[in-house]
Amino acid sequence: MSYRVTLIPGDGTGPEIADVTKNVLEATGVKIQWDVVEVGGAAMAKQGTPLPKEVLDSIRKNKVALKGPITTPVGTGFRSVNVALRHELDLYACLRPCKLYPGVRSRYNQVDLVIVRENSEDLYTGVEFPPDSAEAKQVAQWGKGKVKPGSAISVKHISSVATERIVKFAFEYALKYKRRKVTAITKANILKLTDGLFLATTRKVAEGYKGKVEYEEKLIDNMCMQLVIKPEIYDVLVLPNLYGDILSDECAGLVGGLGVAPGANYGDGIALFEAVHGSAPKYTGLNKVNPTALILSGMMMLEYLGEVRAAQQLEKAVAEVIKEGRQVTYDLGGSAGTKEMGQAIIQKLSRQTTAV
Ligand code: NAD
Repeated sequence: MSYRVTLIPGDGTGPEIADVTKNVLEATGVKIQWDVVEVGGAAMAKQGTPLPKEVLDSIRKNKVALKGPITTPVGTGFRSVNVALRHELDLYACLRPCKLYPGVRSRYNQVDLVIVRENSEDLYTGVEFPPDSAEAKQVAQWGKGKVKPGSAISVKHISSVATERIVKFAFEYALKYKRRKVTAITKANILKLTDGLFLATTRKVAEGYKGKVEYEEKLIDNMCMQLVIKPEIYDVLVLPNLYGDILSDECAGLVGGLGVAPGANYGDGIALFEAVHGSAPKYTGLNKVNPTALILSGMMMLEYLGEVRAAQQLEKAVAEVIKEGRQVTYDLGGSAGTKEMGQAIIQKLSRQTTAV
């Protein structure tokens, strides 16, 4: 059987790691036909939009996509293509496993947690009003003196519908993968209405899993500290969009950094796989960055496609290369390039196949 997958190489260091990941995935023996499409600055220059319709059409048709990182201009220019893709395809659940592989330099001995980040609402959707706009002035009036004149305004919005589906996703994930505990993370003591609604909805959903999965609640500030002190006691974390974004990088730091942190965005019957990290533009073209995060995102893709054995073999090959520490990139203490690390993983895979 052959799968058709949309491949977005991205920009910056994206095309380098996407190329290596494609080769590694093909080396598992799973047959994939790639629809390669372009987004971001390059698409903007050629087609006048950073997210051409044919990209969305390709993903909607194939139902599966693998994406390298895409640069987002800061302050001005087009909005994030990454966020737009999640929105357009209603990829509401962002899953980011943070697992410590032996051989990775870390302050910890054991970390194996999973972030489930709500992807469709909260401050991330970019409902914003510039200073002195009619909308900002209106909000300032509602603020009854609490909002300074000339403020820019961002709208935080949380719904029970979106919360319910992400929390169900987290509990169902915990059940499927035999995870022990789900921790809900908010700032509901201060944001009583938005995070308050997230928490109230979460509690209702958690009731349905009583006796099957343990449930607990934490405030985001405390959680940041808890994760640094004792990450081993946490398991599945479910949280609103912006907190999920920030904790993803913190948790990547617990397990060796962004170079080894994979991710996936799921909707109903559609999925897009991408690393947690961005385009690391300062390393573009240097054959330097770690391809592991995107390769492990590819491993999650294989599992999603039902190629569980190939996914397990790939994870084993990655883990062996990391453990040996000879053919690893700079962030893991080695001097191998992106391509060389990919080659080392392919060699491990071919030994596994010949050993069968
Ligand atoms: P970044 O994740 O690109 O890089 C931050 C630092 O992390 C790098 O300088 C590097 O030291 C390290 N790093 C990142 N990836 C690595 C890898 N594979 N191997 C080794 N080290 C790695 O974050 P940034 O510099 O804040 O963002 C750069 C651009 O990427 C921005 O335009 C941002 O908007 C975008 N971005 C895109 C995505 C995405 O495509 N999903 C995610 C985050 C950021």
